[in-house]
Amino acid sequence: MAQEVRGVVAPGKDQPVRVETIVIPDPGPGEAVVRIQACGVCHTDLHYKQGGINDDFPFLLGHEAAGVVESVGEGVTEVAPGDFVVLNWRAVCGNCRACLRGRPWYCFNTHNAKQKMTLASTGQELTPALGIGAFAEKTLVAAGQCTKVDPAVSPAVAGLLGCGVMAGIGAAINTGNVGRGDSVAVIGCGGVGDAAVAGARLAGAGKIIAVDIDDRKLAKARELGATDTVNSRETDAVEAIRSLTGGFGADVVIEAVGRPETYQQAFYARDLAGTVVLVGVPTPEMKLELPLLDVFGRGGALKSSWYGDCLPSRDFPMLIDLHLQGRLPLDAFVTETIQIDEVEKAFERMHEGDVLRSVVVL
Ligand SMILES: [Zn+2]
Ligand SMILES: [Zn+2]
Repeated sequence: MAQEVRGVVAPGKDQPVRVETIVIPDPGPGEAVVRIQACGVCHTDLHYKQGGINDDFPFLLGHEAAGVVESVGEGVTEVAPGDFVVLNWRAVCGNCRACLRGRPWYCFNTHNAKQKMTLASTGQELTPALGIGAFAEKTLVAAGQCTKVDPAVSPAVAGLLGCGVMAGIGAAINTGNVGRGDSVAVIGCGGVGDAAVAGARLAGAGKIIAVDIDDRKLAKARELGATDTVNSRETDAVEAIRSLTGGFGADVVIEAVGRPETYQQAFYARDLAGTVVLVGVPTPEMKLELPLLDVFGRGGALKSSWYGDCLPSRDFPMLIDLHLQGRLPLDAFVTETIQIDEVEKAFERMHEGDVLRSVVVL
């Protein structure tokens, strides 16, 4: 039987979000219905609301979530009712050219639930944010979007691994391949950048330099493991990173802003043969200009990090376990917990810059 639950819907471009009654169909083959316990408010939700992702309104927002599997459809073997899961937006297919070559974290054919959730009032089909839609009491996803983790962790903390925090940690440990004793610089210390700092610390980096234009963010980065901080409004970031690394630059520089200026800083702030990781997401009109001779002459690797190049089935349980052992302070990313009708207010606070994550608790 289809069920009716409450969910946060963005009805149209730049219109305030509202709590609506939505219809969740029973799970079909390969699908699961998940009772959501917590879901973080991410910038991507705001971009959906602003029409910055696409025009497929109305959106059911929310995608950094954890909850309990309520029911599964035919053929689902990976999860069962009662499992505590973190939702991911890259359910790997197992059959594409990346999966077949043993690189499922690059899967080019990730999938979502086939059936649609709808608005109870009009019957209109909803587009779930990143194929999840978890600012809702329940949601319908592909079973592969559910990753079982240790239920000892708080749902508010676990859900954050589903997006920004995983992107940042993965940028350091997967894409950047940070090793013990490496020097690492992170440019831009929002949620993703701070997670990259935490990831670098987890990987055993020797020096971790956090760069931002906001001293409050730098203080938070220090809490998460930064050994040095640079306010790039007051100091030249490249010079500062070089002088903190014996004049050479960092082994790995993680760009968590997604702008040409900060990418150039990252490019020149790394040591010869070092690695630049771009995890900040640029906009379509941005262009990068670099002397090609410098690209050649400085060697190393220029990489982009998609969702931290994570494999949810491998990385989520591992990171939750490390958190439960006290080695990864994921709780530091939860600034506040809020109710389902406070998402619009959370968007405003996000702008003010002193919130890492507001998390809706259901
Ligand atoms: Zn695939
Ligand atoms: Zn997100």
